[in-house]
Amino acid sequence: MSATPLLQITRLTKSYPTPEPGSFFTVLEGIDLTIHSGEIVAILGRSGSGKSTLLRSIAGLIKPTSGSVVSSGHEVSGPNSDVALVFQSFALLPWLTVHENVEVGLQPLQLSDRDKRRRSMEALRLVGLEGFTNAYPKELSGGMQQRVGFARALVVRPKLLLLDEPFSALDVLTAENLRGEIDDLWQAETFPAESIVMVTNNIEEAIILADRVVVLGSNPSRVRGEIPINLARPRSRNSDAFRAMADHIYTVMTHPEREVAFISPAQAARREALPEARPGAISGLLELLHEYGGKEDVAVIGDRLRVEADDLLPILDAAALLGFATVEHGDVRITPTGIDFATGEIDEAKEHFKVAVLEHAPLVRAMHDALADAPDGELDAQFFLDDLEETFTMEEAREQFNTAVNWGRYAQLFEYDSDEEVLRVHREHAE
Ligand code: ADP
Ligand code: MG
Repeated sequence: MSATPLLQITRLTKSYPTPEPGSFFTVLEGIDLTIHSGEIVAILGRSGSGKSTLLRSIAGLIKPTSGSVVSSGHEVSGPNSDVALVFQSFALLPWLTVHENVEVGLQPLQLSDRDKRRRSMEALRLVGLEGFTNAYPKELSGGMQQRVGFARALVVRPKLLLLDEPFSALDVLTAENLRGEIDDLWQAETFPAESIVMVTNNIEEAIILADRVVVLGSNPSRVRGEIPINLARPRSRNSDAFRAMADHIYTVMTHPEREVAFISPAQAARREALPEARPGAISGLLELLHEYGGKEDVAVIGDRLRVEADDLLPILDAAALLGFATVEHGDVRITPTGIDFATGEIDEAKEHFKVAVLEHAPLVRAMHDALADAPDGELDAQFFLDDLEETFTMEEAREQFNTAVNWGRYAQLFEYDSDEEVLRVHREHAE
């Protein structure tokens, strides 16, 4: 892209002095971010990760400690007239009517009263509030107040609309409606801004609206990476691709040390593919390894187990996935949980396996959760196969299913009736 980006943030750092003399608290550290015309970018970070500070820096409301914010080619050094901000708390003036609140946004533009009125009516129509122009904020529901917040921002026709967790103070259904309307307006291509930057701590909200999700780390906040969201709009939470994306982002957000990968939804699901290894083979490998003092060359292990590399690799992958072993520089090393698993009595071993599977094998966990929620705690194998076939070929889907069933049975999470091809959730005290 040769055009000047709408926004270019370079090495942006913001710190505040703390009460101790000479000491500083760094909120943002070396943030690099570029926003182009025509995109919605979600910035995802936990509470306190500096999201509001970042938006205020873009809006020119606070001054960076170092680094720069360049908006349409101009360095921001005071209030940025290319942007408008929608606040989490709505921030309406209670003594002004709805249309007066919207006109506040126009104050810097020096328009005639007639033009102001016309523009504010247009913005209110866009957000479905044309019948409430003379109401006061306290007479409106939270959802309607936030519509005023959107109208006040959109009335200036900003190049870049900044949203600071705009739906988080609303109840679930109101938030869902308003999000859907913003999505519809955006798709209609008559949206009165070129781009949107939305900060949020809600993973699903980010996936619903954004073209890409930038993940912020905390304390101090820096950009950990970004994930393109190439899903057709409007996006359904129930699609496999959506779920895979949400799972991947959730994993990344709860593991600060993990790398944020550039992956497609199908890859996200594939990444979580289970290595085809039977629990018995995994425990066989670990027992041998433990006997050998806990660490051994991969080739030696293969030799001793009398398996070819093609068969050994999924077993090693499975042991590593489950946290029972690590593989590095051609050596495989058992972990403390691996020792517990390999040396425990059968019931203990199964319990260790169950804990590991629930934590590290999302497919098995998802199957268990689906069964636990199903009427009578059972579902046909075909139900899971159909789901897997959205991401895998038929043959791969069958292999994934078989592996998950082996693991789930061993972990005593569920039972499989192979004659009827029905899975049942495991019940401790089944009658
Ligand atoms: P978020 O919006 O992600 O929840 P904020 O940007 O509001 O995070 O704040 C990030 C951190 O910066 C918080 O720990 C907050 O206490 C601190 N912070 C924000 N503004 C100031 C300020 N003016 N002075 C000192 N610390 C601040
Ligand atoms: Mg905030």
